[in-house]
Amino acid sequence: MPATTRATFDQVMVPSYAPGAFVPVTGKGSRLKDRSGRVLIDFAGGIAVTALGHCHPVVVKALKRQADRLWHVSNVVTNEPALELASKLVAKTFAERVFFCNSGAEANEAALKLARRVASDHEIVKGKRPDVAKRHEIVAFTNAFHGRTLFTVTATGQKKYLEGYGPLPAGIRHVPYNDLAAATAAITKRTCAVIVEPMQGEGGVTPATKAFLEGLRRRCDETGALLVFDEIQSGAGRTGALYAYMKYGVTPDILTTAKGLGAGFPIGAMLTTEKLAKHFTVGSHGTTFGGNPLACAVGSAVIDLISSKRVLAGVDKRHAAFVKGLAKINAKHGVFREIRGMGLLLGCELAPAHAGKAKDLVALAEKHGVMLLQAGPDVLRFAPSLVIPMADVKEGLKRLGKAVAEYCAAAA
Ligand SMILES: *Cc1c(COP(=O)(O)O)cnc(C)c1O
Repeated sequence: MPATTRATFDQVMVPSYAPGAFVPVTGKGSRLKDRSGRVLIDFAGGIAVTALGHCHPVVVKALKRQADRLWHVSNVVTNEPALELASKLVAKTFAERVFFCNSGAEANEAALKLARRVASDHEIVKGKRPDVAKRHEIVAFTNAFHGRTLFTVTATGQKKYLEGYGPLPAGIRHVPYNDLAAATAAITKRTCAVIVEPMQGEGGVTPATKAFLEGLRRRCDETGALLVFDEIQSGAGRTGALYAYMKYGVTPDILTTAKGLGAGFPIGAMLTTEKLAKHFTVGSHGTTFGGNPLACAVGSAVIDLISSKRVLAGVDKRHAAFVKGLAKINAKHGVFREIRGMGLLLGCELAPAHAGKAKDLVALAEKHGVMLLQAGPDVLRFAPSLVIPMADVKEGLKRLGKAVAEYCAAAA
């Protein structure tokens, strides 16, 4: 077998991604190295996933320990790591029950199916379930991202992700994010669920206003709709709270989490109350790999670390360093219109003169040795490890400064 290269991608992979030229082979903390020994500072965290950096020793130890014990038993029997992780999530959040799966989309799929099921259960007459409950509508928001299964991508609602996949699941409508009046009008007694990101990630790194989430909670209580917080990106310590809902002081009925929960190992979970959970009766929903011992052993170690005061307080300290460094770059070059976000999910919206250039800047940053993300064509996104060393923050920002300088010199 000859060594693989970036060119191999085009020969053997489905072309639904366009990966960069850099092919990392090892990672340690917030540094990635390729075969040639080139090192990048990681400000991307694999799209807000590697919340503890690469190969965190405590997480590696948990995985290795479990690898020698038990990998898979299906859901015909339960297993200790799953029970342990669920117990921790229940102890640390509003939730009373947990459903495990393998990804964010699956967690949202479970949440939306549960909401439909709850509504349908309430309308059963003489043991007969309606084909489509009267209360079946789902309200979601413009610029949302909820995943790529047909149901969750329909809830995502962005044209570019939907084209060519119809017919789509019915009953999902979108209203503008942070527009409480529009949401209040859209949420009615026909609404079974409202799904919202407390901070939109893919859609541009846009935090919800407190009044918006409070208003959604109030309107859901008035109409009987369930409030679903998609915390797949904003959760697991990303905002400096274990989950962003804690920062807002607004509690959902259902919360979905994935990405950072496994810090790089695939896992997702849907958290809810006992009262709602009981509608998922035996056999009504399931997954082969959900709750597998390897993923849950990792998740358990991750939750212990990221829910510690030390890690969460460190997020605020790093947030401040990023904002300061980015503002300094902007004072020199004037490329950003706004620097926003919470904790270690930060977005720099490009000034109108540089609209659409986020992709070019991400490529230039890679050239200068720092890995970033986009959130749409106009926003640079930063989602580094929650424990990124301060020295790497400094060095990465220095490299970004050089990339922006090169960009500006070329644009002038
Ligand atoms: C990434 C993401 C998802 C989808 O998660 P997958 O693991 O890719 O299926 C859903 N919602 C939000 C907010 C996300 O950021």
